Amino acid sequence: MIIIHNRYIPFRHFMAINLFGVIFVKKGFKLNEVDYRHEYIHTLQMREMLFIFFYLWYITEWMVRLLMKGNAYRQISFEREAYSQMHNPTYLQRRKHYAWMKYLKRR
Ligand SMILES: [Zn+2]
Repeated sequence: MIIIHNRYIPFRHFMAINLFGVIFVKKGFKLNEVDYRHEYIHTLQMREMLFIFFYLWYITEWMVRLLMKGNAYRQISFEREAYSQMHNPTYLQRRKHYAWMKYLKRR
C-alpha cells in the first residue's frame, strides 16, 4: 500500500484515510500495525467492490445509518469489519472475499 504523509488530508480529527488504496496520513501521525491492518482491510474491500461500488455503498450505508441509533460511521459494515478485525494479526491471511457482508446485520 502507498502511504502519503501530508498536512491536509484527512480533514478534521481523522488521522488517516484510504482513498482508492492510497493511505493519506496526517503529518506527525504514524500508522502502527493495527492502523495499517485497518486500512488494508479497506483496500481489500475496495478491490472486491471495484473501488467505485465501495464508495457508493459506503455513502449509502452511512446515510441510512444516520437515521439509526448509534455512531453512523462506526456502524458502516466496512468499518465494523475493519474495527473488529484490526487487532487480529492473522486476519489478512484468512479473510474471505466480501467478509464485510457479515457485518451488515449483526450489531
Ligand atoms: Zn475505517
